[in-house]
Amino acid sequence: MRLSGLVCAAVAALLLTAAGPANADPFVGAPGLGDPYYPLDGNGGYDVRHYDVSIDYDPPSRHLTGSARIDAVATQPLRVFNLDFAGPEVGMVSVNNQPASFDRNGEHELTVTPLLPILPGLPFTVTVDYAGEMVSSEGEGWTFAPSGGAFVAGEPHSATTWYPLNDTPLDKATFALHTTVPAEWEVMSNGLRTQDSVHADKRTVSWESRAPVIGYLTTVAIDHFVFLEQQRANGTPLLSAFAPDAQHNVEIEERLPEILDFTEQLYGPYPFEAVGGIYVDAAIPFSLETQTRPIYSPRAGLPTVVHEIAHQWWGDAVSVRQWSDICLNECFASYTADYLWPERMEGEDVDAQYRQTIEKWYDEQRFWDIPLENPGAGFEFTSVYYRGPLFLHALRKQLGDDVFFGAIKEFLHRHAYGNASMPEFRAFVQSKTRTDLTGFFDAWLNQTTPPADEYLYPGDLRL
Ligand SMILES: [Zn+2]
Repeated sequence: MRLSGLVCAAVAALLLTAAGPANADPFVGAPGLGDPYYPLDGNGGYDVRHYDVSIDYDPPSRHLTGSARIDAVATQPLRVFNLDFAGPEVGMVSVNNQPASFDRNGEHELTVTPLLPILPGLPFTVTVDYAGEMVSSEGEGWTFAPSGGAFVAGEPHSATTWYPLNDTPLDKATFALHTTVPAEWEVMSNGLRTQDSVHADKRTVSWESRAPVIGYLTTVAIDHFVFLEQQRANGTPLLSAFAPDAQHNVEIEERLPEILDFTEQLYGPYPFEAVGGIYVDAAIPFSLETQTRPIYSPRAGLPTVVHEIAHQWWGDAVSVRQWSDICLNECFASYTADYLWPERMEGEDVDAQYRQTIEKWYDEQRFWDIPLENPGAGFEFTSVYYRGPLFLHALRKQLGDDVFFGAIKEFLHRHAYGNASMPEFRAFVQSKTRTDLTGFFDAWLNQTTPPADEYLYPGDLRL
């Protein structure tokens, strides 16, 4: 995610729901996975392998009819389990083709009781049918576009507004989407477009994410798009779309092949089967790294595209374990766009930029008061943008370019299509050098004051 301008996220303080007592019943899947910030996100007792979601959406009436099929494997005996869903009215839930009883409760729990308990280790299929008028969740899911269309964007939550899922970074699954709209509308989503057909007055467009994806990185966008198709030398298809008042961004998106080449040199091969972007013209205050196809706000410029493309490695291919790990996503995406691109593509003196930034903010307590590691619920999208790049630049100087770039590339490769945490990152980088990094990491990641000079100006930054 990248905020437009330098406005801090006006993130409302999140109501931290208590995790509640541990589930005593061993046959009931936990309603949450205990993330320190969002304890009720995700659900225990199963592992989703694949989603197959069909929606039929009518922009004028805002009416959506949906059917989500979820293929999962039980990790414990399940008499009852939960999905996360906050969308329209649920009409029917079935488990292994047998009708199941269900109950909606809390902010986003859909509690399902199958006719027969599910045995551990066995695959099972849940189907949820739902329908109703969509409401705006601006910035946190389903959002209406000025044209009358709609799109989905929001982090850390957005998917529950339009389909039921296990909404946690810890349960990645492949994802297929079939969207039917009136024929004059177009549809964008993640991955490969496998169908775009018009029958009578309806258009159906299908998309497949063949690499696993997590909830907030999925999207659908329905608008009167203009498309830009490009191709990389290696054959990867590039498909980008521009809402009616976003077509001025075509020039930026035409640089996508160059941006991908640049990012691959840093982080290894592009991790997905397709790539592109969705340029909306609704006034959302951020852009978002939705997998293979970031959503760009009208204010996005070239640095934003570099940032969201860097996220395809940092955030999408390798995802946080917990939301307290957010620096792994945002520190790297911001460092790529704000330091590495200007340095390597535009000849900027980023050491000078680093020194000036430190000098400017050294005595400003508010610059230092949110720690990079574990910033706190509701503060994930703050210091990671303005102090995250400084941390990584200092780390690079501490280690030297060979060790730094070698280590981060190897770290990405090891965790590709999975998850990673900040403690794992620290331990991995430490394993690559004889220098004890304990003080360095603590000063930059955990403290709320400027690091000591030895950590602020390591290596050739030393005056
Ligand atoms: Zn970001």
